[in-house]
Amino acid sequence: MLKAREADTAPLDVVADFPAIPAGWAYLDTAATAQKPQIVVDAITRGYAETYATVHRGVYQRSADMTVAYEAARARIATFINAKSQDEIVYVRGATEAINLVAQSWGQSLKAGDRILLSQLEHHANIVPWQLLAARTGAIIDVAPLTEDGRIDLDAVATILTPAHKLVALSHVSNVLGSILDARRAADLAHAVGAKILIDGCQSVARIAVNVQALDCDFYVFSGHKLYGPTGIGVLWARGDILNAMPPWQGGGAMIDKVSFAGTTYAPAPGRFEAGTPHIVGALGLHTAIDYVSDIGLAAIHAHETALVTAARERLSAIKGVTLFGPADSAGIVSFEVAGVHPHDVGTILDEERVAIRAGHHCCQPLMAHLGVSATARASFGVYNSLADVDALARALDRVTRIFG
Ligand code: PMP
Repeated sequence: MLKAREADTAPLDVVADFPAIPAGWAYLDTAATAQKPQIVVDAITRGYAETYATVHRGVYQRSADMTVAYEAARARIATFINAKSQDEIVYVRGATEAINLVAQSWGQSLKAGDRILLSQLEHHANIVPWQLLAARTGAIIDVAPLTEDGRIDLDAVATILTPAHKLVALSHVSNVLGSILDARRAADLAHAVGAKILIDGCQSVARIAVNVQALDCDFYVFSGHKLYGPTGIGVLWARGDILNAMPPWQGGGAMIDKVSFAGTTYAPAPGRFEAGTPHIVGALGLHTAIDYVSDIGLAAIHAHETALVTAARERLSAIKGVTLFGPADSAGIVSFEVAGVHPHDVGTILDEERVAIRAGHHCCQPLMAHLGVSATARASFGVYNSLADVDALARALDRVTRIFG
């Protein structure tokens, strides 16, 4: 495996680390889910085949060892995002569950007339939980507009926010446009009116270095599977004082202090939010994935993906009928349309050319409405992609335009 690289060295060449990427297949759907390096597959296999046992409950050595490994993964996640303490890290199934947890637990403090600010480019996972909360509490949702080039318009956010706003919830990197939020400025704007801020880090955490203390946010969420780790495990980070004041959201084993029919008391955070037997081996896989990404270095990853985006935008914009969406400095993601061709047809023809892209609304229907389309085609890059993949994409798109005249 690679050792740490500086951002200005040669492009990454790590595709050999990924057993599920055959030669000649351009996998350009990392924004949906990242392929897994062999060492992550090995960590998962070892977790089941050699060291498997439950955590937190066993009185035997194997279980005690697994608990140590499971908690070491939590500590690794904390250092990866520079959390103050591993007790601020809650294991969840993914970003979707993390946002629902915040909405259902922290959200209980909201009352009728309180306001929540989202943006036009949010993923449905960062819209619908807040709509459910608004329906329960009478809170009101506001929507921040986008700039011409597809960024969340923070100047507009500054004018929209009022003391009635209790929460601002925004994507760090758009899963459709790749636009990067100035999350620190967004946090400052939220805090200036006394609101909390949740950052959806699904697309950022594998693309740019994240430091939750420097960003000064209150909640940060992401999924392991977009970070070269397993599915079924993700992270809610919340500032310790906030997390400790939040009520439980799911009841069951492992989240309690004492249970009786007279009344139950709960474990301190993060255990209070982790009812039931967790995704034990998932945590081990995520630990290894974080080590893998950190060994390469997020600066090197960002530089690599930026070079691919620049090349892709240049090649695609030269193809007649192709329109690009989003800003030129997008993080690893390029959305586009081909005039007169449905994105699903684009995706199908590209698949015949061994180029895998995503086509659809990307769980961002409000953004599609804003762009005036029902769907886009999206190419998204990861550490394993190369300029050859960009070439393959451009060649395949040439074929699309030839077929459709
Ligand atoms: N937010 C963003 C920006 C995403 O890209 C995604 C996944 N497409 C999610 C939230 C939801 O993540 P998951 O499905 O892993 O819970």
